[in-house]
Formats: sequence, structure tokens, C-alpha cells
Amino acid sequence: MTTLRSGAASDVGRVRRNNQDQFLLGDPLFAVADGMGGAAGGEEASLTAVMALRAAFEADPTADGLAVGVQNANRAVWDKAAERPELRGMGTTMTAVALVDGAADDEILAVANVGDSRVYLLRDGRLDQITDDHSVPEELVRAGRITPEEAIGHPQRNMLTRVLGNEPEVEVDCFAIIPYRGDRLVLASDGLFNELDHDGIASVARRQPDPGEAAAELVRLAREHGGNDNITVVVVDVVDDGDRATRASAVVADIPPPVPRPAPPVPPGPSTGLADPATEHWSSPRPALDADDAPILHPPAAAHPRPRRFTLRVAVFLTALVVLAAAAAASIGFFARAGYFVGVEDTEVVIFKGRPGGLLWFDPTIADRTGIPVAELTPARRHDIEAGKEEPSLGDALRYVAAAREESLLTTTTTTTLTTTTAPDPATTPTSVATSTSSRP
Ligand code: MG
Repeated sequence: MTTLRSGAASDVGRVRRNNQDQFLLGDPLFAVADGMGGAAGGEEASLTAVMALRAAFEADPTADGLAVGVQNANRAVWDKAAERPELRGMGTTMTAVALVDGAADDEILAVANVGDSRVYLLRDGRLDQITDDHSVPEELVRAGRITPEEAIGHPQRNMLTRVLGNEPEVEVDCFAIIPYRGDRLVLASDGLFNELDHDGIASVARRQPDPGEAAAELVRLAREHGGNDNITVVVVDVVDDGDRATRASAVVADIPPPVPRPAPPVPPGPSTGLADPATEHWSSPRPALDADDAPILHPPAAAHPRPRRFTLRVAVFLTALVVLAAAAAASIGFFARAGYFVGVEDTEVVIFKGRPGGLLWFDPTIADRTGIPVAELTPARRHDIEAGKEEPSLGDALRYVAAAREESLLTTTTTTTLTTTTAPDPATTPTSVATSTSSRP
């Protein structure tokens, strides 16, 4: 069971003569509407829209009901403007949030948006704008035609590309987020973010624990920073999520606790879905309404931040790491055990499999014992064997040993022959001959 706590504040500002903003604080339905169009039109448009939204949602308190409610609000404003000439051209933004049942008996926060009022999400200390502004420069930024920096000074920054009441039908951006305890939503008209930058809004949202006081402080600061427009803020806190965050963590209990992020957009029904205003609206442009204010556009924050969960991508990455580590270990093992060398164990010439001295944790093993005392070999062979004479195969190692053995026998025969035939002094001559023999290759 998700429990919300909310608060709101609204102010006419320091320039306007009337407040054309409206807000709705009817848990589980919350909304901000920013009216525009003539002296009375804006006020009438936003009030009409909010009332139509509430009526539709009360009849169908679902995500579909919210989307239908915004469509009904559009139609109500359109119809009223058609009936009363003095209201012709009026319109309003509408950004609405409702706690509704989602899939699998869980609850979601459905979001619907038309215009340039905003919903921000504060989660884990980070504030993100999660709605898209339907204004000319922001559409151009999303289409990749201009940079966020260029949008700030764009000559059409006052032009909205979508509002309620401009056409009999309107496209509504609809998506949903999964609420987690500690989340804070901030709904605001442009009178807030045209005066306070992103960091300024985030600072208050983080610092002020009470939602009503947070809304009031944001409105007060926007007024102090200029108050050039009506300012309206609704703050909605998720104070209980029915242990949703704990349950989500249990799924990935073997890894560090996840930092919940908004879920991917959940289309509430076939009639809505997450709109792609950048493509859809530029392919079929409609007359843009001249907003009654001059927004100072800030670079858009990362909308719809991705979930920081244990995703398939992370699993694939970890698996690849394990496979790479295993492959590296196997390669080292193969290298370490690939060759042979002729060495000495105790006093015997022995053929080992592996590398002299071993490699990492791979020690050489005995492949063959020759039974030949190393002392019987020539000094050169002894030197090589004691250092570990490497050979590519066991056959090569055996041939090397045989050659060394044959060489030692030949040396002994030669020594004996020379001693018998040439040395008058048997005590000294064998030594000199053996020495000269040992210098042979
Ligand atoms: Mg405004």
C-alpha cells in the first residue's frame, strides 16, 4: 500500500494582475494547469481543464482514466472557447499525476502532460525533470536540431507546440513511474523554473522535509527572483511504499542494494502511450500558441532516468568477465605446461614437463627419469641441465639426454685411449685431455 503526503502553493507573482494557474491537490490525483489567453481566458481555461480532469478521473480512477481526463479537459476548454467568443484562443497546460493500480496488483504513479508545466522527481538526492516541455526550442533540442544552450536564447522560446484547447483533439504524453518510499514529485508551472534554476529547485526540494512548506518556499523564492509570472507548485511525497523497495532488493540479494530509478514508461492504454513529440509534431505541425510569458529555458535535465537495477546487461558483463578470467588462466596454464626441460632431481638427470622453476602456481612435474647421474655428463651438459635445458617435446628432451649420455661415453673412451697411448704420466694427462674434450660443443 502506497501512502502519499502532499502540499501546494500558488502566487500571482509580482507582475500579473490575476492568477491564471490552477492546481489540484486531491490525493491520489494531483495536477497543475497554467492558463493563457486574454484577461479572463487563461483563468477560465485552467479552471475548466482541472474540473474536467477531476470528473473523468473520479469516474475511472486508473491510468486510462487519467489520460481520458486530460483529453476531456482539452475538449472542455475547446468547447467553451467555441461557445463564448470572448474566450476564443484560450488554452492551458496540464501536468497531472495519479496513484493508480498497475500490473501485478502493484501501484504506479501515472503521469500525463501537455504543454510546458513540469514534473520533477527527487530520488536519492537527485532531481530530474521527467516530463518533456512542448515548446518550440525544446522540440528542436529533442530533434537534435539545436543544442540546449541554443534553446535558452531561441527567438521562439515563447511558443508552445501543444496546449489544451487549441484543437478538438490533443496528443497527451502518458507514462508511469514506480513509486518508492522517499520519492518526491514536484509539479510546477513555468513561473517557478523561469525564475529558479535547476539547482535552486533541487536545493529546496532536498532540504525542506514538509511538502507544503517546500512548495511554499519554492513559490516564495520564485517571487523574490522576479515573480514575472504566476507561480504554482505541488509537492507529493511517497511516505510509504508497502516495502516495494525491500522486495525489489530481495530479488538481487547477492549484489549491492539497488538504487531505485523510475521504471520505463508504462503505457496506460491503447489510446495513449508515451508520445514522441519530436518526430510526431514536426511531421505534422500545428499552429503554435503564443504563451503569455517569456520562459527562460534551461538545459533539460535527463528525462526518465533509467533504473539502476541488476539488469541483463550487468549479468552479461559479469559473465563475460568470468569467461575472460577463465580464458586467461587457461592460457597461462597451457603455456606453463606446454614444454619440457631436462633438469636434475637430487643427482639424477630427469625430464620435467613444464617450465624451469615453474610459472605462477603451475609447478613442473616429472615426465621421465633417465637413471643417469648428472656427474657423469660433461661439464657443459651439466651446466645446461642444472639450469634447465628446455625442449619443445618429450621426444626432443629424450634425444637431448641420449646425446648428452653418448657424449659423456665418448669422452670417457677418448680419455682412456689417449691416456694409454700418449701419456707417460697417468696421473696428469687424463685431466688435460678431459679438459680439452669438455670444450667441444
Ligand atoms: Mg505561466
